[in-house]
Amino acid sequence: MSVSEHQPDLCPHCQSSFEIVYVKFGFACTSLILSCPNCAMSFAREWRAESKALDRLKTLATNTRSFWQGVAGRMDALNLRFWYVLTFLIGAVITSALLRHIIHTYGGISREGIRAGALVIIVAVALAIARKRHQH
Ligand SMILES: [Zn+2]
Repeated sequence: MSVSEHQPDLCPHCQSSFEIVYVKFGFACTSLILSCPNCAMSFAREWRAESKALDRLKTLATNTRSFWQGVAGRMDALNLRFWYVLTFLIGAVITSALLRHIIHTYGGISREGIRAGALVIIVAVALAIARKRHQH
């Protein structure tokens, strides 16, 4: 440890307690930059990998970071699925509107007939999707 022997957490000039400005977790050692609020002096400290508490803190920091990275990754996947579903729905609405227009205009089928047909198609599509889900 390269920490000064006398009063490790007090400024050697004015004896006021340090503020931690910057902490850097390294592989072998942890660097800490401390500053005295009174004298505006900065001190760099290094801990070799022998402090159990700092090791635990380092592990915790790493775990927390990987946890949030995992959450971010899952959010991305969720977003992607959401946009896929939304695009699919918009496409389906446009397609059905176009189909209804074409069938009504050129096929001469009444709106009631189209509605019944659309219901049948929706049920068929839903069944197809459900069957596909079961296969996975
Ligand atoms: Zn000081």
